[in-house]
Amino acid sequence: MRKKALKALAVTKWDAKPYFPTVSDCHLWTSIINYLLFGGLVPKYRKVTVKRMNESWGHCIGVTGTRGQRYCRLEIADRFPSFASFYSILLHELVHASEWTQKGQMSHGNFFLSHRELAAKVGVKLRIAYR
Ligand SMILES: [Zn+2]
Repeated sequence: MRKKALKALAVTKWDAKPYFPTVSDCHLWTSIINYLLFGGLVPKYRKVTVKRMNESWGHCIGVTGTRGQRYCRLEIADRFPSFASFYSILLHELVHASEWTQKGQMSHGNFFLSHRELAAKVGVKLRIAYR
């Protein structure tokens, strides 16, 4: 079943029909990617903000709670060139959220890059820069 899901969700085309995500789209697809890549272990985003962004497609913001628990907020663009690009960015940001909750840092270093193979399984070429 997991293999089938991986295959069905593979995305390859970056440019297609524009896609305008909602907050619930972000939660839904993040939870699917979380399940496929991380066995559902990355804590849910406490807050997702969909907004006009000019410089980037998304930001994952690491937060440390009063009892030391780590979680993230997500800010994401309100318009994407395609669903595939939205999905690719959500995956990218979730890798950051995973590093933040496990290690208390975010980078495009070894932890990030070690997810390239997993990302490729769901059709996403994990990149550092998109614009
Ligand atoms: Zn990044």
